[in-house]
Amino acid sequence: MTKSSKAVVVLSGGQDSTTCLYWAMDRFGSERVTTLTFDYGQRHRIEIDCARKIAEFAGVNNTVLPINTFAALGGDALTDTKISVGSDPGNASGLPNTFVPGRNIIFLTFAAAFAYQRGIEHLVTGVAETDYSGYPDCREGTMAALQKTLQAGMESKLRIHTPLMHLSKQKTVELARELKSLEAMALTHTCYNGARPPCGECPACVLRAKGFFEAGIADPLVN
Ligand code: ZN
Repeated sequence: MTKSSKAVVVLSGGQDSTTCLYWAMDRFGSERVTTLTFDYGQRHRIEIDCARKIAEFAGVNNTVLPINTFAALGGDALTDTKISVGSDPGNASGLPNTFVPGRNIIFLTFAAAFAYQRGIEHLVTGVAETDYSGYPDCREGTMAALQKTLQAGMESKLRIHTPLMHLSKQKTVELARELKSLEAMALTHTCYNGARPPCGECPACVLRAKGFFEAGIADPLVN
């Protein structure tokens, strides 16, 4: 890593990507960090507003990239208005209905193209294997294969960083505290039901609450 290395953080407006933003600012210097948010037709538009506010609060740029095609594929609870979270037991392979097939692969491929155009060598994403949902596109093996593909396909030295890959939610909250990003957590959005204040009952809210509880830290979003 050279001193002038630049990084782009995929910022969803959630707790994990916000922690990653502060990780990147700490590692690369905030003046060399920018953020990218995908408008992928998510039902909860609040996520995009949250990402904008978080970037502004952190003093970094934010670009919203429209890639509104997932809803046309249909069948997942995050983009399909006919399905509600938890209303079905998941698909044939046992994945929850919040799984949007290929989402992270597509996000990171667009992020790599965005980075390439701007001479940015580092991509930072908040994916984690320890996430309860077990999304296969969040796993380390997927990320390693994708990095290889992007390096080959773009003839670049692009690196994908996944600082949360092996952290529990508790450890992620502790990292957020270490990085002094707790204040920004008040601006994040986690709830699968799109509620603000959060519903406290959906799987995403429950997981978030558990992480803060186990870390012994009050969640600034609800306190
Ligand atoms: Zn919720």
